[in-house]
Amino acid sequence: MLDKTPGVASAINILNASTIADERLQELSRAVGRSFGLRTYVSPAPLNLDRAFDAYRGQYNSTALLVQLVNAFAGTDEKRIAVVGVDLFIPVLTFVFGEAQLGGSSAVVSTHRLANPFYGLPKNDELSFQRLQKEVVHELGHTFGLYHCHQFECVMRSSTYVEEIDLKRLALCSGCAEKLHSAR
Ligand SMILES: [Zn+2]
Ligand SMILES: [Zn+2]
Repeated sequence: MLDKTPGVASAINILNASTIADERLQELSRAVGRSFGLRTYVSPAPLNLDRAFDAYRGQYNSTALLVQLVNAFAGTDEKRIAVVGVDLFIPVLTFVFGEAQLGGSSAVVSTHRLANPFYGLPKNDELSFQRLQKEVVHELGHTFGLYHCHQFECVMRSSTYVEEIDLKRLALCSGCAEKLHSAR
């Protein structure tokens, strides 16, 4: 039987709105399931990217995408994260790798700035995928109420540059893992 305590998620849904193959995201899904101890699955994302496009900036408003996710899944007790290929921003920042509702249900993450060729470096699909996994776990961590962490290798450490993502591990530090456990 599913635990129906308010605020407790029954599953995690990874919504694919990118060009990454679903099979590849299944692999990510397994890592996410292990991180949070919840059933995790992949499905298509019901997102209208055009509606979040800012023609002046040439980027997509991540908060507008979060609103779409919240509205599309109102009434479910799952956590969800959309993976998009477009470049995301929030008004006060040049760009974001992703955004999440702190203690909420929804998050979004972009692959746009995770690939080496964006920085003029040789393509490295495995590295891009590791970065994506870390950013997905990071943003989902926020939906479970986790704040940014100062532990050097913790996945909840804030990253502004991909080099900083590379320095983190995929795992939560013991302090964050403890907070996650007490939040569930
Ligand atoms: Zn964060
Ligand atoms: Zn931590």
